Amino acid sequence: ERVLAPLADEIERSVEAALRPRKLDEFVGQQTVRAQLSLVLEAATARGVAPDHILLSGPPGLGKTTLAMIVAAELGASLRVTSGPAIQHAGDLAAVLSSLEEGEVLFLDEIHRLARPAEELLYVAMEDFRVDVVVGKGAGASAIPLTLPPFTVVGATTRSGLLPAPLRDRFGFTGHLDYYDAFELEKVLHRSARLLDVPLAADAATEIARRSRGTPRIANRLLRRVRDWAQVRGTGDMDLAAARAALEVYEVDPIGLDRLDRSVLDALCTRFRGGPVGLTTLALTVGEEPETVETVAEPYLVREGLIARTPRGRVATPAAWRHLGLEPPTDQGT
Ligand code: ADP
Repeated sequence: ERVLAPLADEIERSVEAALRPRKLDEFVGQQTVRAQLSLVLEAATARGVAPDHILLSGPPGLGKTTLAMIVAAELGASLRVTSGPAIQHAGDLAAVLSSLEEGEVLFLDEIHRLARPAEELLYVAMEDFRVDVVVGKGAGASAIPLTLPPFTVVGATTRSGLLPAPLRDRFGFTGHLDYYDAFELEKVLHRSARLLDVPLAADAATEIARRSRGTPRIANRLLRRVRDWAQVRGTGDMDLAAARAALEVYEVDPIGLDRLDRSVLDALCTRFRGGPVGLTTLALTVGEEPETVETVAEPYLVREGLIARTPRGRVATPAAWRHLGLEPPTDQGT
């Protein structure tokens, strides 16, 4: 398991639960989304109605699930949780929808992965608060329209571009979450350390934040690894020395690259003189599947301006050479 992976498995999700902010004003950063959401929620509360459906988009680990929980908590409503991949048939979704109570919040994670029939059922339910429940099978089957009480869907997606327009249009409010800056991640880390009840030095927080790829989930995970190191190998305090030593054990470098990221950069610069080189060749050189290189390593390397994707292949930027401690060639790209 990569310590820098943006996704979490079930076990980690249960560990994360303890660190989730429960109120909008405990939620760090994302100023714009927070201000917008707070207006939506306050207005609905003042009018005594369920707020518009809410869509949250952005990369994994930035707080979409947390915000969905906050929405329910701020409304004093209960939350039902499901996801696109968990719904196999439209009937599964019909069952969830028809059991909703007035004012409930339905969190639909990875909503872009809903199958088409479920998607169609969903937007009718969101628009008209109605769902057709099919009873019986085969030729004798009939659809009984069922009126639903007012409820609010909070949809989350890492790929809002994949949502079909009719579904996207049913959301009265869309919030886009963006990567956090280092200062915001430091705040997340200090908050988590307080909750875990372990002292975290300011310079250690800065160090961990810098290596967390703009992602609170990764920051919290690295914090747990540093805590392990501090307790087992150190003095128990999470100071700068503990942070550096722990992150070295996990091969997370000073700007948040791991071994795969660095071997991609290294191959690109030293084997292919900075490129351009095709994805397949590059992947073969580092002994990985092209898909792994493309989906796991490249997004962050591109975001950090270390490599560029060009029509002729992958190219290392001067920053990549410098990160490896090498001098960028002067004839590169010709
Ligand atoms: P997503 O649903 O976008 O993948 P989550 O909401 O599950 O992300 O967040 C992952 C972890 O990061 C959780 O432990 C959560 O508490 C923490 N986290 C995310 N955003 C924030 C934030 N703005 N402030 C504090 N902690 C956060």
